[in-house]
Amino acid sequence: MRIVVASDPSNLPKLVGAAKSLSPEVIEAISTERVSVPVDKLVIADLRLNDCWTDVLSEREFDLMLLPSTRDFKEVGARVAARKGISYLSDAQELGLSGRLAATRMVFSGRGVEKLETSLPAVVTIDADSFEPVSGEPSSVDELGVSCSPKVNLIERKEREAEVDLSKAEIIVSVGRGLKKKEDLEMIRELASLLGAEVACTRPISADFKWLPEERHVGMTGVRVKPKIYLAIGISGQIQHVVGFRDAETVIAVNTDPDAPISEVSDYFVVADLYEVVPKLIEEIRRRKGS
Ligand SMILES: Cc1cc2nc3c(=O)[nH]c(=O)nc-3n(C[C@H](O)[C@H](O)[C@H](O)COP(=O)(O)OP(=O)(O)OC[C@H]3O[C@@H](n4cnc5c(N)ncnc54)[C@H](O)[C@@H]3O)c2cc1C
Repeated sequence: MRIVVASDPSNLPKLVGAAKSLSPEVIEAISTERVSVPVDKLVIADLRLNDCWTDVLSEREFDLMLLPSTRDFKEVGARVAARKGISYLSDAQELGLSGRLAATRMVFSGRGVEKLETSLPAVVTIDADSFEPVSGEPSSVDELGVSCSPKVNLIERKEREAEVDLSKAEIIVSVGRGLKKKEDLEMIRELASLLGAEVACTRPISADFKWLPEERHVGMTGVRVKPKIYLAIGISGQIQHVVGFRDAETVIAVNTDPDAPISEVSDYFVVADLYEVVPKLIEEIRRRKGS
């Protein structure tokens, strides 16, 4: 079996790890930079646009093509599969091979797992973090000159200045719609600062109210975090939010509603008004710190 793996350099070692787990005869990897991965052939090509990736990948011969499940590669994968008239499967987390390709993927925001099977050849996008990275030297390296005339032209690409990397935070104080007005964020910030924590939020707080920047919203469409402590204040605990902190070590929630769904995923659930609890916490921490 011949597997072609194509990816940005950062995800390539995990993609190659996924390919190796299927014990193919040949692995060819395509990326934009040289990466130390143990493949039969590494092809380096200056590919920046989805149109160009689609053109180059559609010309490859393979039984299975693996791409990362990013927004761009999901588009590219679907286009390659459509051009070749072969199967396309997205967001795979486990792969197996016994004649047909078997895969699992998360559904309903992590509440369920779907098992799928497809014939080969196929294009599959995978959740790179579900696979162990591998390293080693490629047996051969090729530079591919690309002549691509994209229909969409890239005018400018700017890196977003990330204010914070929540995925690395050890303590997170996260706030939801239980907060009545933007000014009340000050007491949340104060509590976070006393705890040496980062402030995070639910999607309505960032996307609808714009009280906090998008990179602070946790959940399915936001950041996945794994802090030691996740303090959820005035958050109902809808599944789209909960998937974002399910790897937290300890979850403490404050909510006026004793039946709020967050009670089911909390280690400590405080049924109380945040406007009483937060000032008391601030006062108590200050007292203990002597400040
Ligand atoms: C496709 C899709 C993707 C989504 N992705 C995300 C995502 O990535 N992240 C995300 O967060 N959401 C996401 N959502 C939205 C999600 O479904 C919920 O609507 C959202 O998480 C609810 O936010 P909340 O808990 O702040 O608000 P609410 O659900 O309104 O909950 C507010 C809570 O505050 C409590 N409360 C009220 N007053 C007080 C008080 N004084 N003291 C203490 N508690 C109080 C209430 O009892 C309630 O439980 C998504 C939705 C869709 C459809």
